[in-house]
Amino acid sequence: MEFSSKLLENAVYEMSQLPGIGKRTALRLVLHLLRQPKAQTDHLVTALGTLRSTIKFCKKCHSISDEDICDICSNLNRSQDTICVVEDIRDVMAIESTGQYRGLYHVLGGKISPLDGVGPQDLNISSLIEKVNEGQVKELIFALSATMEGDTTNFYIYKQIEGLKVKISTIARGISVNDELEYADEVTLGRSIVNRIPFENALKSP
Ligand SMILES: [Zn+2]
Repeated sequence: MEFSSKLLENAVYEMSQLPGIGKRTALRLVLHLLRQPKAQTDHLVTALGTLRSTIKFCKKCHSISDEDICDICSNLNRSQDTICVVEDIRDVMAIESTGQYRGLYHVLGGKISPLDGVGPQDLNISSLIEKVNEGQVKELIFALSATMEGDTTNFYIYKQIEGLKVKISTIARGISVNDELEYADEVTLGRSIVNRIPFENALKSP
């Protein structure tokens, strides 16, 4: 792609660093922004800049939050002894939109994936084990995607807390499109949380 403007080229390059955005799409987006009133681009830049500089991660569940403790963790109407283990905030949003879950979450920040160089120490796993060890947790619900990495992560956590007095369940499987939680429709996802099964049963099934 030949650019007659270095400024344009830089903007397109930065835009194309986003996932799923190729050079052509990046160019289209940048040209679109140029056609909009300048204030609109300013709003976008300010929103992203403020997000980046002030966003926090909840000290309890590690989800993205405006405060030290997120709205979900600080809501005392939610059952504090049930924790749903998810990969990232998209899963929290998907499960929240079902309206079927009233417990808390624990956001791992990824899945164990040796091929990508992601080990247990790179994820928020030790703080989860700590929570369970403290004895306040009655039930852990695994809600990671049904991929090899998801299964590996579930099993790793399970092994760390095996024998402790905590019920471990997993959301029903064979329900979601692409095996990604965020794509499951609300009704199906809601049902799979309500009808969750003991993790040991999931281990035995082929
Ligand atoms: Zn939280």
